[in-house]
Amino acid sequence: MKNIGNITLAAWVVTFLLGYFGLGAWLYEVMEGMDRSMVPLAPSIAFAIAVVTSIVLTVMWARNLGSDVLAEDKPSGRRKFLLGGAAVTGGVLGGTVAVVAKLSPWLQSTVPMMNEVGQEVLTAETAHERWTGSRIVSKRPLGSTGFMVSDISFGSGRIMRHTNPEDLFREALDRGINYIDTSPDYAGAMSETTIGNVLKDRKREELFVVTKWCTSEGHVRQGSTPQDYIAALDDSLSRLQTDYVDLVHVHACDTVERLMDPNMLEAFEIAKEQGKVRFLGVSTHTPNLEEVANAAIDSGKIDVMMLAYHHGAWPKQREIIKRAAEKGIGIVAMKTLKGAKHRGMVEFRDDATSYTQAAFKWVNSDPNVSCLVVSFFENEHLDEYLHASGQSLTEADVAVLDKYDELIAGTHCFSSCGDCLNSCPESLPINDVLRHRMYFEDYGDEKEAMLLYAALDKQADKCVTCSAPCTGACPEDIDIKFRMVGAHERLTMIA
Ligand code: SF4
Ligand code: SF4
Repeated sequence: MKNIGNITLAAWVVTFLLGYFGLGAWLYEVMEGMDRSMVPLAPSIAFAIAVVTSIVLTVMWARNLGSDVLAEDKPSGRRKFLLGGAAVTGGVLGGTVAVVAKLSPWLQSTVPMMNEVGQEVLTAETAHERWTGSRIVSKRPLGSTGFMVSDISFGSGRIMRHTNPEDLFREALDRGINYIDTSPDYAGAMSETTIGNVLKDRKREELFVVTKWCTSEGHVRQGSTPQDYIAALDDSLSRLQTDYVDLVHVHACDTVERLMDPNMLEAFEIAKEQGKVRFLGVSTHTPNLEEVANAAIDSGKIDVMMLAYHHGAWPKQREIIKRAAEKGIGIVAMKTLKGAKHRGMVEFRDDATSYTQAAFKWVNSDPNVSCLVVSFFENEHLDEYLHASGQSLTEADVAVLDKYDELIAGTHCFSSCGDCLNSCPESLPINDVLRHRMYFEDYGDEKEAMLLYAALDKQADKCVTCSAPCTGACPEDIDIKFRMVGAHERLTMIA
């Protein structure tokens, strides 16, 4: 076959495209948290077929190689085998790169963001007596909704860790919390069920109940029918044992397209008319937080935004929050503890007695914030967290936050800003290496971190003998060489 070479090349091009738009897009949606049953498998299957077809064509091309040239110039069987093998390997690697390229925004920013600022903070080792029985003492307007919400509010993502979660939730309500955040995909819908079992005996109108457009398996996918959206909401209402929720979020929204899905907007209008929901919101993480948040503000359709916000917020985030508040959008802060769960920070536990309270006070010192949501799953959280309600940020709090920043300074590449990259003559992906080290040390994801590190184009072995021109290149004062060498030691797979 004369054109076998061109056909093979075309097949690999199709494979790369299907890697990016097929399997890559499928994995992207799965990582984004979509209900998998709603994400079509066809593009991934097409990718698999394309890979097999391309490999077969490549083998045929290698076998045919030399048929158009003089016999003496024909490659030997061994050369054909090597050429074919190299072409297949190159093609498969290219396909993998196409898949990873599609996922890279999530891998680089959203995943660390979601983990980095997790809510699984260590409770203070010593509960101070003065915290006992703490209650909500301050409520704030939630944008233009007309509702006053407790400044510290109930996140239920980890509620099932408590031995008696209904009791914990009941006690939280008794102490004045009136904004409740849940979702069908928290603990396989058990969070909603637990909340519903308590909610049914309460004065519903005194509580602001929030859920998400999700099923127990994940988010309702963009492009789902309005009926799919409404069915998910109906399931939530049934579990929550209520006729309506106050707010439904587009959950962990990463694209403007999903935020503005016309089917979702139509479903919201129908459900609102039916009295099943009152307001529409969006919760968002990076990498497109800025774009999504700005689109939400400009759309005029969003009543509440739930954003990651902590005492390391980037200036633009404050601007976004201010702009949203000016338009009457309620701001709910989440991920307020700036990574306090990290295992590598055990030395910080002495200060943790007041760290959470200081961090909460910092967030609530922004008058544009309506409330913050934090996960409650231990009795101690009620005393410790609620003690910060209505409290002003003090110099002592700032000192605690500064100390926290000091402790993480020079170690944690939180921003992944990339300012140091040009200083490295070896063009090492310093931000990636240090992030993978963080997964390894702080999140306990050793295996994942090592795999990610192994997959990098370049690794930090060169740092050992380098004269370190990167010194001083990090605005966060990270000792790059020292951290890179340590990263390589931890992350390298030794046979
Ligand atoms: S120490 Fe490592 S990161 Fe720094 S310049 Fe040298 S090779 Fe690059
Ligand atoms: S300059 Fe510092 S914070 Fe920015 S990527 Fe490099 S090491 Fe990380």
